[in-house]
Amino acid sequence: MGKTIIVSNRLPVKITQENNELLFNSSEGGLATGLGSIYKENNNIWIGWPGMIIGEEEEKDVTEKLKDLNLIPVFLEENDIKHYYEGFSNEILWPVFHYISTYARFDPDNWESYKEVNEKFATVILSYLEPGDTLWIHDYQLLLLPGIIRKQFPDISIAFFQHIPFPSQELFRLIPWRKELLRGMLGADLIGFHTFDDVRHFISAATHLLDLHVDGNMIRSGDRAIGVEPFPMGIDAQKFSDLSNDETVIEHIKSLKEHYKNQKIFLSIDRLDYSKGIIQRLEAFELFLQENPDYHEKVVLFMIVVPSRDNVAEYQRLKNEIDRIVGNINSHYRKLEWYPIAYFYQSYPVEFLSALYNIADVCLITPMRDGMNLVCKEYVASRNDNTGVLILSEMAGASKELIDAIIVNPNNIHKVKNALIEALNMPEEEMRERMIAMRQMVFKYNIYHWVKIYMQRLKDIKSTQLSMK
Ligand code: UDP
Repeated sequence: MGKTIIVSNRLPVKITQENNELLFNSSEGGLATGLGSIYKENNNIWIGWPGMIIGEEEEKDVTEKLKDLNLIPVFLEENDIKHYYEGFSNEILWPVFHYISTYARFDPDNWESYKEVNEKFATVILSYLEPGDTLWIHDYQLLLLPGIIRKQFPDISIAFFQHIPFPSQELFRLIPWRKELLRGMLGADLIGFHTFDDVRHFISAATHLLDLHVDGNMIRSGDRAIGVEPFPMGIDAQKFSDLSNDETVIEHIKSLKEHYKNQKIFLSIDRLDYSKGIIQRLEAFELFLQENPDYHEKVVLFMIVVPSRDNVAEYQRLKNEIDRIVGNINSHYRKLEWYPIAYFYQSYPVEFLSALYNIADVCLITPMRDGMNLVCKEYVASRNDNTGVLILSEMAGASKELIDAIIVNPNNIHKVKNALIEALNMPEEEMRERMIAMRQMVFKYNIYHWVKIYMQRLKDIKSTQLSMK
């Protein structure tokens, strides 16, 4: 049996510097945990950018060190980061795929760089790829890669998974390089998205723009049948459940509970991003405070915003806007001993997040658009006593699975405000029923299950292709 090669823009690695020496450790993000069962075994590998610009003289040393972790680096230069990563991936694909096409800047230089970097990845892959291997390519930074590899290896097994939404074809077709992007993706044998809607949108774009034949979820491209299917990604639910009993977490829980002893806690955790609906959430919370003076001093919105992409102008603007609104709300409503929003612009280790998941009475997740959203699943997995209420935007992929949450349209701030009141007053029995149903979902369809069925489905499709030859 051949080896499996995982490919993503970033390698699952944390880099630290000690006495002028670079140290590398595996990182423990959700995807990395799930794929750990693949890339850490046998002669399997993970190919990607290590996450920092490395001088040419250090490349050999870095490659050697990463090899010990089964990781293979693709070295990117400053210009690549500016145009391929920030420019094309985050200023064209990201806004269009999240339905905010007015933020997209269709700069042709970014497209050139995107092509070049996808070729760079291909060059590294091709130096490791052998007939019989399986490739699993991840996400929107590498849409051209399946097509490039397919040209060199017509029979190789390629899976592709996109972690962000795929928009309606009316939006997708705004992108000047839409056909090239589709053809790139169609180099895969199995194309996966989080939801059935993303699948529908992709199939619709492929049929409208490329005039391909479709039979159910299978697209015909030349003599290849390509599967396009939803695979909602899960989390390591057991890990979050167990963390609730970790000593450090228990310490955090104790001090947080002491600090907020007479208050109900609404929790929101997001990366800084305009797709996350942070502004609208603050507006809904302000409306809640305005209309419900009885709740003053009895609730707090604990809001973590994790710094992200702060080189991009739209993100800097968003940050300033959040700071301004939080400042206004806090200065308007605060009392001597109380202020309504505890706002933190930084990232936290998982032990602190776990403590927050444990103490939050309500978790408030209201993105304008989100491929999946893992924070809401982590909250559910952490609630070992089956209490807690989840308010979840219908625009998050997770809302298709967590149907027992209070589902809201994040643009309807009156509805979100009402949801806050409903959550605070939910009868205990209803809360438990909903939480138990959501926990069953999150535990059953966990990240390990996701990896397993994805690889199995790829095998099935490969054998269907063979039987058609
Ligand atoms: N997260 C973290 N530290 C923080 C806040 C969040 O490690 O301070 C993690 C969180 O546990 C979750 C991920 O970041 O696993 C966010 O994933 P999600 O799918 O919700 O959003 P994304 O940032 O991928 O759009």
